[in-house]
Amino acid sequence: MAIERTFSIIKPDATHRNLTGAVNAKLEAAGLRIVAQKRIHMTRAQAEGFYAVHKERPFFGELTEFMSSAPVVVQVLEGEDAVAKNREVMGATNPEEAVPGTIRKEYALNIGENSVHGSDSLENAATEIAYFFKDEEIVG
Ligand code: GDP
Repeated sequence: MAIERTFSIIKPDATHRNLTGAVNAKLEAAGLRIVAQKRIHMTRAQAEGFYAVHKERPFFGELTEFMSSAPVVVQVLEGEDAVAKNREVMGATNPEEAVPGTIRKEYALNIGENSVHGSDSLENAATEIAYFFKDEEIVG
């Protein structure tokens, strides 16, 4: 196993319900270190750029509207096997299918408003981190 960095977003449904701390507690308990973090309000264009890979999907409009509807917290997480570990602690996309104890099982409202985003590969993590953070903002 190697020390990796992955990208995470605490989504509007979670920031709106004051769950930022609760989500962070789950991430830290899983051994992930929050090495960069900021609260931002994405523009629609920023959300569309971030989710460009999904632009042909039927939920693209709903997704980008949701992600730009209220503040989010963008984060860089670091730790052993961070990409896979974060996906594990997040739980399945649809909270009804998520394992008990995962963030989405405990906090997500539905498949769209599912509380967190996490990179699905090391390559995407690097791209997604660079979309929101400058190198000097990642402080370890
Ligand atoms: P993830 O990697 O687990 O976040 O899942 P995906 O990459 O498949 O989808 C990206 C995001 O699009 C999800 O986290 C959801 O917020 C949203 N999404 C996925 N499927 C649906 C859907 O069927 N309906 C809606 N409204 N949103 C969806």
